[in-house]
Amino acid sequence: MKSQVQPKLIIHGGAGSSLHGKGGLEAVRQTLHAIVEEVYALLLSGANASVAVVRGCQLLEDEPRFNAGTGSVLQSDGQIRMSASIMDGALGRFSGVINVSRVKNPIELAQFLQNSPDRVLSDYGAAELAREMQIPSYNALTDLRLQEWIQERQDNFKRTMAGVIAEPELLETSNAGRGTIGVVALDTYGKLAVGTSTGGKGFERIGRVSDSAMPAGNYATNYAAVSCTGIGEDIIDECLAPKIVIRVTDGLSLQESMQRSFAEAHDNKRDFGAIALDATGAIAWGKTCDVILAAFHDGDKIGDTLELAGGTQVGSIS
Ligand code: ASP
Repeated sequence: MKSQVQPKLIIHGGAGSSLHGKGGLEAVRQTLHAIVEEVYALLLSGANASVAVVRGCQLLEDEPRFNAGTGSVLQSDGQIRMSASIMDGALGRFSGVINVSRVKNPIELAQFLQNSPDRVLSDYGAAELAREMQIPSYNALTDLRLQEWIQERQDNFKRTMAGVIAEPELLETSNAGRGTIGVVALDTYGKLAVGTSTGGKGFERIGRVSDSAMPAGNYATNYAAVSCTGIGEDIIDECLAPKIVIRVTDGLSLQESMQRSFAEAHDNKRDFGAIALDATGAIAWGKTCDVILAAFHDGDKIGDTLELAGGTQVGSIS
């Protein structure tokens, strides 16, 4: 296939309330930028968008700072259950796993299911698949997440969500926030793909299903691709990712589509963020919460949204 398009990339490590302390912010920045650099190089070398998305998700899942893969938050019963999905915009195909345990990279299961007749598997079925794929059993628990859970249990699970990132100093500040990871890529062939992976909200009841393995939180077509993070129930109620994508399909620019969708979300008092790309190469992010931890490559340079504090905001680069 002929390469002709300038690739674009945007990734996120969750959204939520402010990152207190520069130490936290700089560490998150370094991590996100390093991953953008590696995945963008892959896109430049001709990798297709889905391959780049899976690689980006693996790197983010392996980073214990974020709430996906290693470092996932614990649910109310003290267990980790992870969800991940991928959508290839060119194929128009969604696949994912819901509430899977004891695997290192849930996104690999979602990737495998791209070529299966049964494309979304939940707990028991996902565990069976991991066994079939001979994926070694892996414990994603970190000490920090365990400490968070113990503290939360002492407080009788008052918080609605776990911390946006795992930092020891945040344990003291009861800094409620979100965390999850997502990658959106436009490859040199002009194709889009998106992947999202999460440990969930944290402290949720057993069997709760995250938006991250639903089209509401992760959706792509040939026109646009979107990954969401934040309160999953709010993302589902707004049907956020398909709403943004469909508005672009129907002729709005990505910027207009994000603006309209986030204005509605603001009016509806939703609590979330999203990152997006369209087929023209426009890059966008939006949030109704305080921060969205996103970083991107616009073809020239790497940028990020880490210092964009405050309420509802939408930004874009075309
Ligand atoms: N959206 C995820 C969920 O509700 C959490 C997150 O984005 O951090 O499961």
